[in-house]
Amino acid sequence: MPGFPYVGAVVTSEPVGLRVGHTVGCWILEGAQSPSAEQSVRRGRVLYGHTRPRRYTVVGERTQGPWWATLGPERLMANLGYIQVVRHCNHFCGFCSNPTTPYTHTFESMRVLVDDFVRRGYYGVILTGGEPTLHPELPAIAGYAAAQGLHVRMITNGSRLGDPEFARALAQAGLKLVHVSVYSVRPEVEARLRGSEDTLERAFAAIDNAHRFGVEVNVNCVINRLNADHLDHNIRYFMAKHPQVRHFVWNNLDPSMGRAEVNQQQFTPRLADFEASLLRAMRLLHASGRSFRVEKVPLCYMGEFAWASTETRKIVKGEERIVHFLDDKQTVRQTAWEHRYAPGCAQCRLRPICGGLFDRGDGYDPAELAPQFVDPEPVVRAILEDPRDPSFGRVSLAQWRADFSDRSPGTGPEGQALAVGERSPRGERLYAAKRRAEARKAGALGVAMEPPVPAADEDPARER
Ligand code: SF4
Repeated sequence: MPGFPYVGAVVTSEPVGLRVGHTVGCWILEGAQSPSAEQSVRRGRVLYGHTRPRRYTVVGERTQGPWWATLGPERLMANLGYIQVVRHCNHFCGFCSNPTTPYTHTFESMRVLVDDFVRRGYYGVILTGGEPTLHPELPAIAGYAAAQGLHVRMITNGSRLGDPEFARALAQAGLKLVHVSVYSVRPEVEARLRGSEDTLERAFAAIDNAHRFGVEVNVNCVINRLNADHLDHNIRYFMAKHPQVRHFVWNNLDPSMGRAEVNQQQFTPRLADFEASLLRAMRLLHASGRSFRVEKVPLCYMGEFAWASTETRKIVKGEERIVHFLDDKQTVRQTAWEHRYAPGCAQCRLRPICGGLFDRGDGYDPAELAPQFVDPEPVVRAILEDPRDPSFGRVSLAQWRADFSDRSPGTGPEGQALAVGERSPRGERLYAAKRRAEARKAGALGVAMEPPVPAADEDPARER
């Protein structure tokens, strides 16, 4: 189907009704030759994304509008859901916001969460942790999610993906995109941040292996006090040594949870610490034709790249995010992206599309914020008209204006609360052992340990 940014198909034998004003088309299809598509057909699901049209039989007319025009408003966004597969890790980052807990997952407990994303019409799932590759059934759950039509992604430190056979197994299971996390290409800084020596070479091998087996690779980086001054140096290195990486993601450190909360002094940067190097890094990428996203950085620190803010993109597109935390928080459905604002933000023209300052734990200072007096609509247009975004073409600027003025957060499909993993006697024993080992590492590194997870019988969250 040349000429269309996404190949969409409504699986039905009946022509579908369409709303006025959509400009791209789709085919009405039925039947499929691949097992995963057949499963989806049986479930009456919508197939979308990178589905290949040649696998299906065209039984209806080509429509005047896209397949998603037949859906309710909650299906207009390409939502991604997160599953924390494990919470332990083979690295020991002093700012980890999701450290070890006694909860564990089985394939079956993860399958329930994948099925829920499918039921909600989610575009994809991100398998994360802890270090997700430490779960023995990771390839199985990746394969299951792919078979259900989800775009399967993973965030990893790259330690196991450095093994070519493991990378091949995940690619064959259906992993489409991997975010390999690298904080600094300076070995001594990376070793300090990771609490482990020699992790860089494994991460670089992971990048090369993923590329070799056809998995798209992004590089993720947590902005912190130790790398704040050389974010652009990292980018120069990747552009020279790993030019196949075309997309980068920065996450400003979340000082509100886990080990990050008790080590703020060591690792939480001031916004001014990274402002210049982040801007240089974004300009380098932009000039090279690469793409990037920046999370938890307020728009007044994004220069001319406000459209690359993760929070702003979600605000504009009305996306939601479900995170299945493998801890007492369990499932969190985020539909609002506002954090903390300074009094001056009230005058800021970017305020309606700005996520503000990620503040919990008082890690950042609102006095660093500065109101902006620029027109927000070019930012909105850059987001809506980005052909590389999975939501591309779904909403025009005019539709966005009408929708944004009366958007009410918090609506959407509500299911019953899902259990995220379990606390078994074995999980409790593993947790206790892991805590003892981590306490020794923390002592050696001069890093504080996060408070322990309360015992199951004294944990108020267990009463729910
Ligand atoms: S001044 Fe406030 S609203 Fe404006 S960009 Fe900065 S954080 Fe956002």
